[in-house]
Amino acid sequence: MMRRIRKAAVIGSGVMGSGIAAHLANIGIPSILLDIVPEELTPMEKKHGATLADQSVRNRYSLEAINKLQGQKPAPLVSKQRLSYIEPGNLEDDLHKLKTVDWIIEAVVENIDVKKEIMRMIEPVRKQDAIVTSNTSGISIEEIAAGCSDEFSAHFLGAHFFNPPRYLPLLELIPTSRTNDEITTFMKAFAETTLGKGVVLCKDTPNFIANRIGTFSLLSTVNEMLANGYSIGEVDSVTGPLLGRPKSATFRTLDVVGLDTFLHVAQNVTKVASGREREVMTPPAFIREMVDKGWIGAKAGQGFYKKQDGILEINPHTLEYERRKKLQAPSVEQAKKAKNAREKVKMMAAAEDRAGRLVWAILKPLLLFSAEKVDEIANEIQSIDQAMKWGFGWELGPFEIWDALGVAETVTRMEKEGETVPDWIKEMLDKGFDRFYHEDSFYNQGQYELPAVSEKIIHLPKADKLIMKNAGASLHDIGDGVALLEFHSETNSIGLDAIQMIRKSIVEVEQNYQGLVIGNYGKNFCVGANLMLLLMEAQDDNYPEIDYVVRQFQQASAAIRYAAVPVVTAPYGMTLGGGAEICLPSASIQAALETYIGLVEVGVGLIPGGGGNKELYLRQLERLPTGVKLDLQPIANAVFETVAMAKVSTSAEEAREIGFFSERDDWVANQAFIIAEAKRQAIHLAEKGYRPPQKRPIPVVGETGYATMLLGAKALKTGGRISEHDVKIADKLAFVIAGGRVAKGAYVDEQYLLDLEREAFLSLIGEPKTQQRMQHMLLKRKPLRN
Ligand code: NAD
Repeated sequence: MMRRIRKAAVIGSGVMGSGIAAHLANIGIPSILLDIVPEELTPMEKKHGATLADQSVRNRYSLEAINKLQGQKPAPLVSKQRLSYIEPGNLEDDLHKLKTVDWIIEAVVENIDVKKEIMRMIEPVRKQDAIVTSNTSGISIEEIAAGCSDEFSAHFLGAHFFNPPRYLPLLELIPTSRTNDEITTFMKAFAETTLGKGVVLCKDTPNFIANRIGTFSLLSTVNEMLANGYSIGEVDSVTGPLLGRPKSATFRTLDVVGLDTFLHVAQNVTKVASGREREVMTPPAFIREMVDKGWIGAKAGQGFYKKQDGILEINPHTLEYERRKKLQAPSVEQAKKAKNAREKVKMMAAAEDRAGRLVWAILKPLLLFSAEKVDEIANEIQSIDQAMKWGFGWELGPFEIWDALGVAETVTRMEKEGETVPDWIKEMLDKGFDRFYHEDSFYNQGQYELPAVSEKIIHLPKADKLIMKNAGASLHDIGDGVALLEFHSETNSIGLDAIQMIRKSIVEVEQNYQGLVIGNYGKNFCVGANLMLLLMEAQDDNYPEIDYVVRQFQQASAAIRYAAVPVVTAPYGMTLGGGAEICLPSASIQAALETYIGLVEVGVGLIPGGGGNKELYLRQLERLPTGVKLDLQPIANAVFETVAMAKVSTSAEEAREIGFFSERDDWVANQAFIIAEAKRQAIHLAEKGYRPPQKRPIPVVGETGYATMLLGAKALKTGGRISEHDVKIADKLAFVIAGGRVAKGAYVDEQYLLDLEREAFLSLIGEPKTQQRMQHMLLKRKPLRN
């Protein structure tokens, strides 16, 4: 029988429990969220005459948690509509409801006795065969279910989410010796596909993988800082993006986690630690003192950092707050210019200045410790790298860093400095394996091993599958009669090269393939048109060139819409401006759940010029039943509002609510799967006998509709909410969406609308205030309100 998770229960409605319930709601699984029953009334409850017997009091913790989900940032829910998927409850009145669920997730306080007690409560009521998981940060999974039956234990394992559960990809799965293999295999596939997680299987050892390596590395960094007189800010200025890690680096990360939580997690290993780990895992006195004073980080308003007339950092020796310092060194400036994380790390570790010495002193114990612990905590090295990347947002895991530095050179350097390098690494080098990774494989016990590749992931093709390429994009054969067009500028912005490749690719695919996918893997699908080029042409008054580029974009958009084969787009992350204009005309959009799509041109003083206004309007019209005469004004208003306010969806689900996505579009939770999904969709559409849409006259709201739209913008101006230039842009936009000077309800053709859009675009780009906005965006990466 096929196992299904139709409904879940989450026990513990704190930070993690409520976040997990929200993520389940995001992917469409309803859950009940249970917590303890309060023992006392709050002053507010007393004021309202409530009693301890009232349902609203008995469910207080989970009700409050559900309420809080709405205001939290970053948003735990992909859409407010999803709130109805979470049912509040408590562990006394609603325990019987556990009978109805297929998965019970324990996420109560990190206390073995409480967790054991929860298992004891669950066992008699749970449906036979239901899966039970514990979200502990590092307590022994085996011990939590030690007193439970074999049947229960066969269905019990650790499932460790990272905070926040919606956004951090890592899910550590920790089966025990009693867990049924079938359950582990099911949970891995379910978590990857339905929850969209990057799953790492861990051994049942304290703190599992990511926290074990992570806490060690954080504390060894703190020790190095203290031993060699670096400051908090100095350490952070080299342990963030320069090492391919998030901007929050070391101490800002700790402030977000909370120093109390961090010490708690670190304590899990102090009992078992020996050697290198034992030395490092004893937290320095100043951190304990900070916790005693309540300076535990962001939740207390101060930790390693404090905001007070700017940013202050704590001096670990005096516990006084001082102005934040940054480490300035030649290596830092040089590494900032390196093109990727591998090069940055290599440059920093090799440098002999103060910054370089710090980086090496931090990386060396991390690499050695990871190598020493592989067998104990993981099945192979790749699990360690994936855990650090998915759980901590690192671009490179320890073994990938080691490869970037050169394994043999690094071993020599370590030995010269008196370190003992684990034997397996020296054996690996002796056998002639000079790297941990070779192409797609990783080193494991004397050979390179291919990871168990899911058929849902298409690894971008190697050069032999290349069909054509220019500086902006390349077209690959991805098998089964489908080609993939991939943009490859640094931020995936679109210039003329990429636009021309769209048209050329469609000609090629129409002749030799059954479908085209437009997609890529990176940080974002596409951040829009190449602003720099447009601005340079505008400053040179080269309007014929701009007109040419815009026409080319409009023709590329039409080529996507009317291609004889299905064109399927696979957006994820930021899909802005021109990126959105590529998706809107496609036969189907197969997005990642985390897609932030928007026509944001207004932010740089422009309006969409590549057909975006028309495409968004057409998508709204498509939703209407044919033959029914409806007022088009609300539709035009909605499109106007979306573009004028530069609305960006906070998820693919919200993209549907705003109107960017329609019925023919869909999303998957796991971003790594989108190209395979898009390919599948292209084949599906082709096999059904794909027919492109027909060109049809489009009804518009005309001159009176234009006046209505503009009225709203003028009211905002009178209220001082928008500038004169905003009104000018809104005027052009309203004119384009309304279809210009025609009667209400008139039918116009697509080319006419595109011409209006292009004229408006050209007139705006000539405006000095628009050019100031473009320049500001390029320099400061944020919109200028002028
Ligand atoms: P939290 O303090 O926010 O929430 C804990 C919840 O447990 C509260 O709602 C509380 O009412 C409930 N609780 C307390 N005593 C209970 C009892 N006797 N019976 C039932 N419920 C009880 O904690 P959290 O951060 O959500 O952590 C929950 C679990 O997740 C812990 O095991 C923690 O180690 C783990 N975890 C936390 C994080 C994180 O970053 N916060 C990350 C991964 C895992």
